[in-house]
Amino acid sequence: MVNYRYLGNSGLKISEITYGNWLTHGSQVENDAATACVRAALDAGISTFDTADVYANTKAEQVLGDALKGERRESLEIFTKVYWPTGPGGPNDTGLSRKHIMESIDGSLTRLGTDYVDLYQAHRFDTETPLEETMQAFADIVRQGKALYIGVSEWTADQIRAGHALSKELGFQLISSQPQYSMLWRVIEDEVVPTSAELGISQIVWSPVAQGVLTGKYVPGAELPAGSRATDEKGGANMIKRFMNDDVLQRVQDLKPVAEQLDLSLAQLAVAWVLQNDNVAAALIGASRPEQVAENVKASGVVIPQELLEKIDTILGGV
Ligand code: NDP
Repeated sequence: MVNYRYLGNSGLKISEITYGNWLTHGSQVENDAATACVRAALDAGISTFDTADVYANTKAEQVLGDALKGERRESLEIFTKVYWPTGPGGPNDTGLSRKHIMESIDGSLTRLGTDYVDLYQAHRFDTETPLEETMQAFADIVRQGKALYIGVSEWTADQIRAGHALSKELGFQLISSQPQYSMLWRVIEDEVVPTSAELGISQIVWSPVAQGVLTGKYVPGAELPAGSRATDEKGGANMIKRFMNDDVLQRVQDLKPVAEQLDLSLAQLAVAWVLQNDNVAAALIGASRPEQVAENVKASGVVIPQELLEKIDTILGGV
């Protein structure tokens, strides 16, 4: 079963492996497969689910809400996000204005079939709206009981620090940051992680298997596996291409002996790797099939010895 970690400096425990439905629910996979993935997550002990209003233009929230129908609400942590437009694109459909936040939360709650989300996240930083306005809107949403906690996603260390200070002034606390983090994408280590650790903020890290690349299923020179994200013309193929070059793919193949030494698959090694960072509260995994969930959750609780962490660094050579 999956271990739990506290989210930031709060009393909220979340499953250290969390299931998210970007690019899959309402898009790449049919609703039956989406429900099967959610079921597999629940069966494996995952209680934390992440989505966003913009995923599949609101369909992902709806599919997740439907898949979780009938589950005991108190046993789940449901996370969603606000920032991007979900409608035709009116002047106030993007960003973190009070208007957009207040209107968006109600749409998300309706689609998710719940009275509150456990975590409401600013999907990006809004350079146009005063931060005071954004944080006041979040404070009001917390006071209204529509969100229990507030987080951010892909904010810089300085933005996190400013948002955190305002949240404290307004009587609530920013507790999480949701950045990309994997063996192939380590940007947060320099500034976001130390700043967050100082402020009592955790990372919920997305794409821990680099969208499938760190599973080793993309082999240099070989055909792309049928049905994989790299073949998904609805959007996945475009998103994954940043990692799809032969040098990276070969280095991932070279990680196999490290995974074997720990009796892990490459996917499990990749998920376990992000969880070695103390500031990471959860590896936010995606899956198009229930078997992937069942495989990846086995990374919970794995300890990677220092000499193997160093070996991984050597093999990847800073890519
Ligand atoms: P992952 O790195 O976990 O990639 C998931 C994909 O990799 C799966 O859909 C599957 O794709 C493939 N895969 C996973 N495990 C296996 C396995 N064991 N064997 C073979 N293939 C496997 O994460 P995602 O990129 O999906 O992102 C996860 C979540 O992070 C999102 O759902 C979302 O909640 C969040 N996110 C947040 C962002 C933000 O800006 N805040 C941005 C992006 C994501 P396939 O089978 O199709 O090849």
